[in-house]
Amino acid sequence: MSIEILERPEISEEAISFVSEECIQTGFSLCTSCKKVIPAKIVMREGYTYLVKNCIYENKDTEALIGKGWGKSELRKKLSLNWPFVKPNFGQVGIKEEDIINLKYVNYILLSLTKKCNSHCSICFNRDTEEYGELSLSYIKKILAKFKNRRVILFGGEPTVRKDLDEIIRIINQSGNTPILFTNGLKLSQLSYCRELKEAGLESVCLSFDGFAPHIYRLMRGVSEKEYHFKLAALENLKKIDMDVILQMTVVKGINEDQIKQIIDFIARNPFICAYWIRPLYLRGGENLMGFDKTNLLSLDEIKILVCQALGISPSIFELWDEVKAEFVSWIVKNLPFAKLSVIEPDTLYLMREGNTLKPLFNEEDLNEIKTILKNNSWQRLLNYRYISWVFDIIRTGFDFSRLEKKFRKKGLVRINLRTLAPYPNFILSNQLTITQIDYFSENFIVAYYGQ
Ligand code: SF4
Repeated sequence: MSIEILERPEISEEAISFVSEECIQTGFSLCTSCKKVIPAKIVMREGYTYLVKNCIYENKDTEALIGKGWGKSELRKKLSLNWPFVKPNFGQVGIKEEDIINLKYVNYILLSLTKKCNSHCSICFNRDTEEYGELSLSYIKKILAKFKNRRVILFGGEPTVRKDLDEIIRIINQSGNTPILFTNGLKLSQLSYCRELKEAGLESVCLSFDGFAPHIYRLMRGVSEKEYHFKLAALENLKKIDMDVILQMTVVKGINEDQIKQIIDFIARNPFICAYWIRPLYLRGGENLMGFDKTNLLSLDEIKILVCQALGISPSIFELWDEVKAEFVSWIVKNLPFAKLSVIEPDTLYLMREGNTLKPLFNEEDLNEIKTILKNNSWQRLLNYRYISWVFDIIRTGFDFSRLEKKFRKKGLVRINLRTLAPYPNFILSNQLTITQIDYFSENFIVAYYGQ
């Protein structure tokens, strides 16, 4: 055998930087300047994830820092099998309804009601783009006529600045869908306003809440410390009217990571709170927001450790849940290839209330066994498990996408979900679309966006 020694080819600086990047996903996105659909990818470099867009029409590349680390991709790959997705139509302005394939798999409908807000957070990525106007009631009706039994998220800006919010809630209920309000909570500090929304048919509120100290809001969002007191009043009011509440926290390393434990303890004592969503700061491309930089980011794995320390359990339980869900998806795809699979959330923990404490719904041993049983196709053994029907409902529905949520909450189930946030600037993964956002490019466009 002869060994040929090849001359080493010259490698350009560009090529070296390209191969040293770990490309996690390729997809497409919207150019923030020309609004056309363009190629995009998510890359990991030195432990941080970036969204890289290549506008072939304006001949420019842009790069935005999304966060630190990236969740386990195995589950995400499996989940993409039956996913709703968007067909990339490069060069088109915005994304049209007909580009969304499998519309029936869309579980969430996000209505971006307005870009106005009664607050002014420096870390906000989603306000004051008023060029797109507000969604009209007639357009909301037109969109909702296409859907039934979906969660309709009222989103902003801040949706409570709309004077017709109660009317919008009624329209959603009349259409056979379920509204959920995403809010900063400032207006909910008025009990009469909370009652009005409840009477209109609102049953769930997702309240942004970063911790139990006024200075957190000043240091993190650059807003008045009074906002904290408004949020506390909102929580009191929501408790009084027995609203289902999800707390949504943005966590910034060095500012409020210690609040994870405080919030978990608060949820344990307050059964009106059914879920807790945690997402790390999103830097929007690295601008100097409140002086924050990479050192203020936490990876999902780091947040998992903080959550599990607060609960006194091992972080591997997050991974085990993901593995159980992946086995479930494999089983469905193998045995029921035409079955509808809804959104399945990774990085989620399910807990049960026991007195004033929260305990995992299943321990590691149980989850390992459930995983093995699913793998070996021996479903009968699963029936021995207490709460097993819940597991299937949780997995099948993605939990908060369905009307089962109320049933779970009443029985004491609490969900902690970690979210990576890359919806803006409009990155769209063709195989991981879980949410559609109806936005303002024109009333004829549906903008689909990537979320978990
Ligand atoms: S309250 Fe929400 S929408 Fe308003 S500025 Fe803050 S982050 Fe943005």
